[in-house]
Amino acid sequence: MTERPATPHDLHSEYAEQDAGEAAGPFVWRASPDGQGVVLEGNCPRCHGRTATEIRRGLPGTGAKGIRDWLSGTPPRPAPAVDAAALTRERHFCECGHPHPQLPADAPFVGCGASWRVAVVLPGDVDEPPVNAG
Ligand SMILES: [Zn+2]
Ligand SMILES: [Zn+2]
Repeated sequence: MTERPATPHDLHSEYAEQDAGEAAGPFVWRASPDGQGVVLEGNCPRCHGRTATEIRRGLPGTGAKGIRDWLSGTPPRPAPAVDAAALTRERHFCECGHPHPQLPADAPFVGCGASWRVAVVLPGDVDEPPVNAG
């Protein structure tokens, strides 16, 4: 028996567009695989599913308002200069990928419908220097 610190994903919560307030757990951001934005990853405060939201760098039609302002103004760099404060101002939606019961056909995201703000964002897999180099 292994005790896991994470709350298991509640697959049975019904879909509800619910404001979950501020998520307590930390969210981790990293550059998206194609370098065109960032992916903010964490656990949904309502269903506890793993959710990752990709925030694109000012591409037309992505609907990334707000965040776009600082992303589009940032010149391309190996490590994106992410304004963590902007990520905490943005509202995030559950994209756990599990079609919760009562999921409407026109739901913007496949998840439980919760939305929240994040209090803490941490940089994820930034190229960490080797600890014992030599
Ligand atoms: Zn959820
Ligand atoms: Zn879920």
